[in-house]
Amino acid sequence: MRVLVLNCGSSSIKVDIIDTEACKSVLSLNVEKINKEPKAQMNGEALAITSALDFDAILTWVMDTLSHHDEIKAISGVAHRVVHGGKKFTQACLVTSEVVAEIERLSILAPLHNPINLKGIRVAMKYFPQMPQVAVFDTAFHQSLPSRAHTYAIDQEISKKHDLRRYGFHGISHRYVSYKAAEYLSQDISQLRLVVCHLGNGCSITAVEFGKSVETSMGLTPLEGLVMGTRPGDLDPGLIGFLQQNEGWSPEQLDDFLNKKCGLMGLSGKTNDMREIIEYAAEGDEGCQLAFNVFCHRLRKYIGAYLAVLGGADAVVFTGGIGENSALVRARVCERLEFLGLMEDEQKNKLVQVDDQRPVQIFSKENSRIKLLVVKTDEELAIAKRATEIIKGNDTVNSIPKIPIAISARHVHLTRETLDVLFGEGYELTTYKPLSQPGQFAANETVTIIGPKNKYENVRILGPIRPKDQVEISRTDEYFLGIDAPIRESGHVEGSGACTLVGPKGEVYLKEGVICAWRHIHMHPNDAASFGVKDKDIVEVEVADEERPLVFKNVLIRVSDKYALEMHIDTDEGNAAEVRSGEEGVLCIGNKEVSLLKRKI
Ligand code: ADP
Repeated sequence: MRVLVLNCGSSSIKVDIIDTEACKSVLSLNVEKINKEPKAQMNGEALAITSALDFDAILTWVMDTLSHHDEIKAISGVAHRVVHGGKKFTQACLVTSEVVAEIERLSILAPLHNPINLKGIRVAMKYFPQMPQVAVFDTAFHQSLPSRAHTYAIDQEISKKHDLRRYGFHGISHRYVSYKAAEYLSQDISQLRLVVCHLGNGCSITAVEFGKSVETSMGLTPLEGLVMGTRPGDLDPGLIGFLQQNEGWSPEQLDDFLNKKCGLMGLSGKTNDMREIIEYAAEGDEGCQLAFNVFCHRLRKYIGAYLAVLGGADAVVFTGGIGENSALVRARVCERLEFLGLMEDEQKNKLVQVDDQRPVQIFSKENSRIKLLVVKTDEELAIAKRATEIIKGNDTVNSIPKIPIAISARHVHLTRETLDVLFGEGYELTTYKPLSQPGQFAANETVTIIGPKNKYENVRILGPIRPKDQVEISRTDEYFLGIDAPIRESGHVEGSGACTLVGPKGEVYLKEGVICAWRHIHMHPNDAASFGVKDKDIVEVEVADEERPLVFKNVLIRVSDKYALEMHIDTDEGNAAEVRSGEEGVLCIGNKEVSLLKRKI
């Protein structure tokens, strides 16, 4: 498939026709320095621009120029890079009038970018009205950040009023590079913890846990975090007020200062180009030496912090112009991180040269616990591939089956012996209704559970009979009954809580058997394969809810060919999740989002 990728920035327009099977650009057209002295290149060769110089005119010129080329006839869709997708866009999507309206609404968060991105979308819709148009967002990959990572520690009322939070950027690159690293390591992304450093003109670092972004350094805007070409990264916010008061700067002047005059440029007083910084620093330029030192120190500090966030990692990955090309930056940054299990191989580092043939290379020592990788990023290809998935409708995100969720009320499983005592010798349970797990049923028969403090009557027995007695109750039930029941996987009752069970014909004292069931998902091996999980894996399940996101941690995966796909939680958890009959939500396992069908039984 061929996709036209349109990347409109404030001073540049970048267009590529990408062949997504061959993974290469078959035609590229770039215009830079728009609003100054625009320079155009087609396939690397200079091209004269004769039209007027404003952005709109140049965009029209780009489209007209493209329409004269045969390659344009073979495209199957148009993909647009959109900088800010806010909270709404958690993944790429087809452009509809609602999507356009939302991107426009989000311009308040990205006034320099979204309006320009929209110009690209509108012009492409005019030129290619029959083509599917896909918006691929820079922020979408980071929408998986847990609230502890995306929330600013400020008044929450003002925060909610304006949707102030960490959004993160460079998501297209962070996601692409993570998958490339996983491919190189021959591991499924859902098994890996990565720290990805995207170091270009803009720089950001992301902690990627099992394919999901869980922490990232850019924030509400791309100003936060690492030192960049012309942006400072982290600052004391008090500095802004100080400059307003003491320099008399307006918001526009401050914006200009923070976006264009800081970072490597501000520190060196000379250049925002890392190649030049390194060159001048070697010649003794103190400003450039300072710029290099501050840049590397900040990055090292962040790597350490992100390794702590992840509790260790499989690899630290470098990408972007600086990350891919500067062995010196990589070496300096890795210094002092040996104690965390990160050992640079100096020789290998110097020899790294990523290209299309070898887009991933390793430069850690054999015995380095954490691998050090360099990955060639390719945002245009990443955008084109993402768009292809959406256009073909086989987006992995959407094709994963729905997982029904069931709430288990307190219940008991009985052995033959216990059933004999409670209901009489040879008594057979009768079916009240079958359960979703094949062969399982809720019985008409019930028992009374007696604990040290209280009792519950009419507790349902689930059949068929089992090799061990097991009483499953919730935390709230434990308090009521006065029983200390451990959280256990079904069937593991050794040393668990005690109680007395009473039936119509007798009673039995169970020395052990009372457990609080470990929340779990039953799945068939086929489902497990499609989710990329295996038996006994522990996953996080996120019930995405605009108002109140909820994450079930420590969810146990149980795989058997006797199981049907279903997540089981107890009544306490059901209440916490506000599960109501027939509701639907979104659930994330590792890197995959799947629809969650909430259902009460
Ligand atoms: P953008 O964010 O605009 O896509 P790039 O990813 O191309 O930027 O990165 C640009 C940065 O990469 C510049 O600071 C440039 O100096 C730096 N860079 C490129 N090659 C080298 C190199 N060999 N050594 C050090 N820095 C380099």
